[in-house]
Amino acid sequence: MAEQAVAAAAPPSPEEVLTEVIALASALDGVGAVVGAYEGFTYAVQARDPSLEMYADEIAAGSVAVLEAARSRVPGDEGSARVVMAEYGERGLLVADAGEKFTVAIVGEKRVLEELAAPVERIVRRTPLTCPSCGTNLDVRSMTCPSCGKVIPFTAKACPFCGYRPETRRCPSCGAELHIAVDRVELATAVRRKPAVEEAKPKEEEAKPVAAAPAAAAGPSDGTLVALAGAATAAYYAVAYAAGINPVTATLAGAPALALAWLTIFVRRSKK
Ligand SMILES: [Zn+2]
Ligand SMILES: [Zn+2]
Repeated sequence: MAEQAVAAAAPPSPEEVLTEVIALASALDGVGAVVGAYEGFTYAVQARDPSLEMYADEIAAGSVAVLEAARSRVPGDEGSARVVMAEYGERGLLVADAGEKFTVAIVGEKRVLEELAAPVERIVRRTPLTCPSCGTNLDVRSMTCPSCGKVIPFTAKACPFCGYRPETRRCPSCGAELHIAVDRVELATAVRRKPAVEEAKPKEEEAKPVAAAPAAAAGPSDGTLVALAGAATAAYYAVAYAAGINPVTATLAGAPALALAWLTIFVRRSKK
């Protein structure tokens, strides 16, 4: 690992990507469990919430179902959905496709997963944000929010817990002062220059003020909101675990209707 900055040769393998995402996600506050899977079978588990560990196999299987179902529901977008989020109340399930049948599922608070989705997507697409000064991969890093002390993704637009938006932040590797723009990183000294890239796509207002706006109104603005019918059953079970409810009890209480009405899935699609 020591020579990684020097040898910028081959893109990371699916297993390396899986390891990166697991390491990042399991370090964050508000994440209950991270399950890496191969062909839908548990490959690696990091459970901060021990009560979720026993559900690793269900989460692994359910997450693949969520991914496949989301893809089949987005016409013309097959294959490009690499990161899918299922939500249930305040909880969520973020599923990422690391390639070659490796997937990773992250169970946790929805507000955290919403901030985590963009870094995870860049990691699995092998297009991470890197430090312009030293080249280190910033998307795999976490940091402590200077305002509330929670551990959050280094490249989060805003703290999912308190809404704090750092103007600049220091590269954890070389200490350069960085400004993280929509989808790129600049040295803080370069911020005043005219924007080099004019973006065709509308500005992503990804970081929502946590307390102010209801999440339903804001939603991930670069995601497509897809209501799932056929996928709802499989996804429901996965998300029921994520929500910390007993799926058997919930099913008896009329879960199929519940799942259809409440379960929505965000598909993050690349606009490239
Ligand atoms: Zn904070
Ligand atoms: Zn650096």
